[in-house]
Amino acid sequence: MTKTPLLFVGHGSPMNAIEENRFVAGWREIALSVVKPVAILCISAHWETKGTFVTAMQNPKTIHDFGGFPKELYNIQYPAPGSPEFAKETKKLVKFTNIELDQEWGLDHGCWSVIRHMYPLADVPVFQMSLDYYQQGRYHFDLAGELRLLRERGVLIIGSGNIVHNLRMVDWNNPESGYDWALEANEGIKDMIVTQDYDKLTRIKELSQAYRLAVPTPEHFNPLLYIMGLKEKGEDISFFNDALVMGSIAMTSVKIG
Ligand code: ZN
Repeated sequence: MTKTPLLFVGHGSPMNAIEENRFVAGWREIALSVVKPVAILCISAHWETKGTFVTAMQNPKTIHDFGGFPKELYNIQYPAPGSPEFAKETKKLVKFTNIELDQEWGLDHGCWSVIRHMYPLADVPVFQMSLDYYQQGRYHFDLAGELRLLRERGVLIIGSGNIVHNLRMVDWNNPESGYDWALEANEGIKDMIVTQDYDKLTRIKELSQAYRLAVPTPEHFNPLLYIMGLKEKGEDISFFNDALVMGSIAMTSVKIG
């Protein structure tokens, strides 16, 4: 079996789950460019814990972890099976920390709002890994390196967040563009990805004011560190959905391999 690619997906608004737009078209297109995976491991911005967990239930529930959206969005179910087998396998693979098996979570919208466009039949098992809230960038990057074998087993690993994500500064009147600092951060982070500048990527907030505004809290950025931590030498890097929306959100997404 050939190694699966790696994806970092900018998920943006939960409304993308039910809207038809160029970003969801981009997600569909990228799924079609990938051999159908055996399972999907999703590392979502929306599951933060103390310690690192993987979901290990047979049938993860669809979690509607947002407020104030139309009823239509709350009615969505994404009934993909889980993968207790790969969850246990992941726990076994990682020596860096003790991965705990979770029976409570399910699939949050960082995961299902994207994957339902990629695999609408919900016929690929999906399990999630949480982000340890108490750890710094380097921890996430180093932990990711121990997940490499999953790719050889046909597991597609998706990091779901946004490399520029400042909800306080969202400009509803500007759906199709970004603030100067957001554009600067988006370009700068893409450059760090291409040059594989892991030192800068793992301490992004220390770099300048543009990055502090782009990454006011780490949860939407950290899924990218998993994807970069998994990248092996010589693998191709390409971008898709590379655009700023509502001033302070980047939909910029990355495919590796
Ligand atoms: Zn989000």
